[in-house]
Amino acid sequence: MKRELTCIICPRGCSLSVNIDGAKTCVSGNSCPNGEKYGIEECIHPTRTVTSIVRVENRENTMVSVKTARPVPKENIFDVMEIIRKTSVKAPVKIGDIILTNIYGTDIIATKDIV
Ligand code: SF4
Repeated sequence: MKRELTCIICPRGCSLSVNIDGAKTCVSGNSCPNGEKYGIEECIHPTRTVTSIVRVENRENTMVSVKTARPVPKENIFDVMEIIRKTSVKAPVKIGDIILTNIYGTDIIATKDIV
């Protein structure tokens, strides 16, 4: 199997070509080792950092931005979004506060201060 990808690790956006032949994987087009790692992971076990917002209960019309502390498997993104959608917090919230723990192997953390 051969896949053509654009590396999203840095703004250079190298065009990657990933060949998967059984257990053997070969990446070309990358300008650095990070691109090779990205190409392999994207073909074998793609993950994404999920960003969203959570309602702040004790502040009118206020949401706090959140993200997963680590990328989660792509197939779990909608489940993570649904869990986040059902969540609310009380202010104050500080950047880095853990909003939810162990959601598909990672925490959900605040990315904004709400005083
Ligand atoms: S391969 Fe390296 S240089 Fe190219 S986009 Fe990816 S991280 Fe950036």
